[in-house]
Amino acid sequence: MRADPREYELVAPGDLRSVLALMDREPNTWTPIAGGTDLMVLFSAGKLVAHKLVSIWNLPELGGIDVLTNEIRIGAGCTYTDLRQHEIVARELPLLATAASWTGGIANQNRGTLGGNIVNASPAADSLPALLVYEATLVLVSARGEREVPYIQFHRGYKEHELGTGELIRAIKIPRKYSGYSCYARKAGARRAQAISKVCIAGLARIENATITDARVALGSVAPIPLRLTETENLLIGKEIGPGLGKVAAATVAAQIRPIDDVRSNASYRSAVSANLVSEFVQTLCSETAGK
Ligand SMILES: Cc1cc2nc3c(=O)[nH]c(=O)nc-3n(C[C@H](O)[C@H](O)[C@H](O)COP(=O)(O)OP(=O)(O)OC[C@H]3O[C@@H](n4cnc5c(N)ncnc54)[C@H](O)[C@@H]3O)c2cc1C
Repeated sequence: MRADPREYELVAPGDLRSVLALMDREPNTWTPIAGGTDLMVLFSAGKLVAHKLVSIWNLPELGGIDVLTNEIRIGAGCTYTDLRQHEIVARELPLLATAASWTGGIANQNRGTLGGNIVNASPAADSLPALLVYEATLVLVSARGEREVPYIQFHRGYKEHELGTGELIRAIKIPRKYSGYSCYARKAGARRAQAISKVCIAGLARIENATITDARVALGSVAPIPLRLTETENLLIGKEIGPGLGKVAAATVAAQIRPIDDVRSNASYRSAVSANLVSEFVQTLCSETAGK
């Protein structure tokens, strides 16, 4: 451990109102800590710049998954285990449940939260492509009140986002309209478990009479922020499913991504894998349609 705990202060007011009041009274002073699976890694490496931490772990107002008539509202404090164990999330939002199952090991899934994954904003974060294709909306809260932001507008650049001073993510809202969709999720990592993504993908499509009537594709780890591939989507929508379409869709990928070389992979590998995953997504749609 390279950090000295005596140099840090942690408070746990225990309810949302008190947390927000503290963050309002002393702006830009207190950093929220939820599961701590990102912040404590920085702490142990001696790189945690924030010295005053306010715990939002287990705040009842940030917990719970509410299944409403038209949307599923997931508390930002929900853990990956909460997501994996929720029957309706598993059935209606399989891309999110699958991403939760990829995230670290069981101990990490018991602690890491969806809100923490969003705000930590790693380009390699596994749940973010799923939130993009499901067209999630974030509910942000501060002492000034609540506001909603479409998730696609949240990330502004590498580790830069829309959260204002004194604001927390309170919940993530996802429309309940994907039951009839085909979905595809893959994570390319160094191994099957406990690996950070080299590339990850979430794909969704609605097929009617062998024609793609809606398509959404998002990739992680190929740009400073998670990306939706709108050109690929536009190419696919209206097309009849058939052999060759995967290759055509894959050819649109390179122009939309900006992968980099880093410790986990390099740009050319990431480009090749991204195109292959998009092709595989479309081929999966072909096989599903052929099997009907
Ligand atoms: C061993 C290990 C393996 C991992 N594997 C993966 C993996 O495979 N895939 C992956 O995507 N991630 C992985 N992670 C990263 C991490 O688990 C996730 O990013 C997790 O979702 C972070 O959530 P948390 O609650 O622990 O965040 P914290 O560490 O508590 O906080 C992270 C950031 O989010 C902010 N924050 C947290 N909640 C809120 C909120 N509600 N509102 C506003 N700000 C908030 C904090 O201030 C901080 O800036 C791994 C981490 C570890 C240690």
